[in-house]
Amino acid sequence: MNKIAFEKVIREAELLSPLLGFKSDIHPIEFRKDPLTSRWCRINIERARRVKQAKTRETTDSTRIVEESRKKCFFCPENLEKTTPMFPSYFPVGRIKGGAACLFPNLFPFGEFHAVGVFSGEHHLPLDQFSPRLLEDCFRVCLEYFKFIYSKRPDIKYCTINWNCMPPAAASIIHPHVQILADHKPTPQLNELVEASMKYHNKNGSNYWIDLIETERKNGERWVGETGSVAWLTSFAPQGNKEVMAIFSDKVSTLIRLNESDLKDFCEGLSKVLKGYHEMSVGSFNMSVFSGPNDRNLSDYYFLNVKLISRPNFEPFYTGDDGFMEKFHCEPIIEARPEDIAEGLRDYF
Ligand SMILES: [Zn+2]
Repeated sequence: MNKIAFEKVIREAELLSPLLGFKSDIHPIEFRKDPLTSRWCRINIERARRVKQAKTRETTDSTRIVEESRKKCFFCPENLEKTTPMFPSYFPVGRIKGGAACLFPNLFPFGEFHAVGVFSGEHHLPLDQFSPRLLEDCFRVCLEYFKFIYSKRPDIKYCTINWNCMPPAAASIIHPHVQILADHKPTPQLNELVEASMKYHNKNGSNYWIDLIETERKNGERWVGETGSVAWLTSFAPQGNKEVMAIFSDKVSTLIRLNESDLKDFCEGLSKVLKGYHEMSVGSFNMSVFSGPNDRNLSDYYFLNVKLISRPNFEPFYTGDDGFMEKFHCEPIIEARPEDIAEGLRDYF
């Protein structure tokens, strides 16, 4: 009856290791296939076991860079009004404010509607300091922005909230902020998710996301927990390290249809995941929201979902995690087992 197949292939690499006095060393490599998109990733199980715990969280160098960046930060309260762009006159306000958050146009946009949402006046926050309230304030103004754009421009149907946290995750500004885009077309990744969900529905007569939640809840090893209507789990075949997935099970396929209670549920869970990341010594990550089109309810086969992946820590000589396998071959190398990550995060739920 299991419609979702968690496929993996194990191959072994043999070498004479200097770490074992040049005796034979066998490394099992797991090739895992994503049950929805069929994308592959690879995990070296030996390497995953070696994952160092409790690496230094903030080095003297990174603290110094954070302090330096504070002096001329565009997003700090004393500069924000002077140095950030404003919306043109057809918007009701120049910048959208709500609680501690403030949203304004991106100075160098890569879309017709590309805005930046600053969480608060705090220049730097460790990941265990993002309270549900702080997250809610910011995501609420993002939703307000999307609804306004859609009311004026019904052709702009694809909305997404994205978070590059700290420079190793491609943030050019340290002050915590999200980047939000409203576009005329879906990104290839969103398109793939929606198309694959539709195919799954046609083949199996059921909703992949409901099946995934049920299967993973029962299975348990990648299950993290639930916050109201939002389910949290780690991905069987991640696209990046420590990948966590949130699924809105409240039959919603698009951001603009999120209600206040869904938003609260999501922010409660996200705050917990960030606490867990912090305890795992993660200080940098990417997050994206995959929202279906505004003009159709796809919830028969597609649910709104979110992914987070950890990125290297902000240290002077960090090793990047985006090499040839990720950039060109689209078969990422994953450094820890998703099952171990889920076990670590479960304590916060
Ligand atoms: Zn700042």
